[in-house]
Amino acid sequence: MTAKFDTIIVGGGIVGATAAYYLAKAGKRVALFEKGRIAGEQSSRNWGAVRVQGRDPSQVPMMLDCLDIWRGIEAELGEDIDWRQNGQMRVGYSDADVGRMEAVVDQARELGYGSRLLTRAETEALLPHFNGDGMKAALYNPDDGCAEPEKAAPAFARGAARLGAEIHDFTAVTSVEASGGQVSGVWTEKGLYEAETVILASGAWTRLLLKPLGVSHPSLWIRGSVARTAPVPIEMRQMVVWGRTAYRQLPDGRVNIAVSEDGFHDLMIDSLFYGFKFLPLAVKNWRNLRLNLGRTMVQNLMGDYADFTTHRTLDPRPDWRGLERARKLFQQDYPAAGELRYERAWAGQIDYMPDELPVIDQAHNLPGLFIAAGLSGNGFGIGPVVGRILRDLIVNGQSKYDLTPFSMQRFGR
Ligand SMILES: Cc1cc2nc3c(=O)[nH]c(=O)nc-3n(C[C@H](O)[C@H](O)[C@H](O)COP(=O)(O)OP(=O)(O)OC[C@H]3O[C@@H](n4cnc5c(N)ncnc54)[C@H](O)[C@@H]3O)c2cc1C
Repeated sequence: MTAKFDTIIVGGGIVGATAAYYLAKAGKRVALFEKGRIAGEQSSRNWGAVRVQGRDPSQVPMMLDCLDIWRGIEAELGEDIDWRQNGQMRVGYSDADVGRMEAVVDQARELGYGSRLLTRAETEALLPHFNGDGMKAALYNPDDGCAEPEKAAPAFARGAARLGAEIHDFTAVTSVEASGGQVSGVWTEKGLYEAETVILASGAWTRLLLKPLGVSHPSLWIRGSVARTAPVPIEMRQMVVWGRTAYRQLPDGRVNIAVSEDGFHDLMIDSLFYGFKFLPLAVKNWRNLRLNLGRTMVQNLMGDYADFTTHRTLDPRPDWRGLERARKLFQQDYPAAGELRYERAWAGQIDYMPDELPVIDQAHNLPGLFIAAGLSGNGFGIGPVVGRILRDLIVNGQSKYDLTPFSMQRFGR
């Protein structure tokens, strides 16, 4: 029997949507299944930062190419996704911060991107309303940018659909199907769909899909929170700035403000199971990591996350205390913004890997099954090139990048 599809993609975030687009563009018969709405989870909930600055060196060549994709994508898709290439900035307040920034400048020189250190005067010249009291230096890459997460992945999915891809939202994939030692399709809540290749671009849920296949994918969920203000009466450059808080002004004057450093880990059974793999990461980030024992653990124990239909779209509670702290810090940084009012807030569960690197690989024990997940908090910016890499792996059997650091076997079986 011939498969109905060349490739089935599980997950309609930035990785799944871009993979669908590039594969459909290459003439492949593609179906994408998303258990909720397209980009409902991480891919619409993030800060929108598209950055090469400060990335792990293994991702820099891919990310430099990805900046080219972002630069041209509005014209290619014929859609506005609020792409701005106004640079990316990190403000440092301690000598230790400056030491880390100098290391990034050295890396940038070596790997070919333009990060440099700015003085307080240079920073305030770039951000005229910014109050740099207490800052030591800022790290700035003029080539980085940002886009609107609520628009980007849906625009790629619509682009894929225009090229003939089938986009099935509100359709959960319940398992991966194999026959003759090869992937052969997926079971969905609407029945079996056959394909020669399957991509798991299923973000925070990937571990659950891989478990029955005997593949270890030790990702844990880290909850990040963001709030949006009413329009503020000052103009800031529309770039992502990380300092005492993280923020980005939208084209309509509103500002997204995030709890920049603190990550919440809602303890679950997997936290105990995989905890030891995360020890080095936890030790490195002990100041910023908050462990939370409560509602999520109870839901987990009751089997709430053992099924793909109970949470069509993960919608965790924002960290209101952290957001209130961020609001006050933002006001200190921008006194001219006046009294700030949040219009809405949200949170997202980030799929973190122990080494903060994604898995981009073909399953060693099931040919035809590809995994692209665990993008560890910086997958929005790099997502489109990951989608294109998946196309290359499927269409050409290879990628021009060294994918060894992203192998799934680095964690054992
Ligand atoms: C608060 C926050 C801030 C962030 N800031 C940034 C940033 O500024 N820059 C940056 O680059 N990255 C950032 N990130 C990380 C970035 O959002 C993610 O790395 C990226 O969106 C991951 O994309 P994805 O497609 O792999 O996963 P997702 O967007 O999570 O998509 C996976 C999809 O798969 C679906 N799915 C799962 N299981 C199934 C199934 N069985 N059947 C059907 N569908 C399924 C899910 O419903 C989901 O929609 C941030 C994340 C958060 C939460």
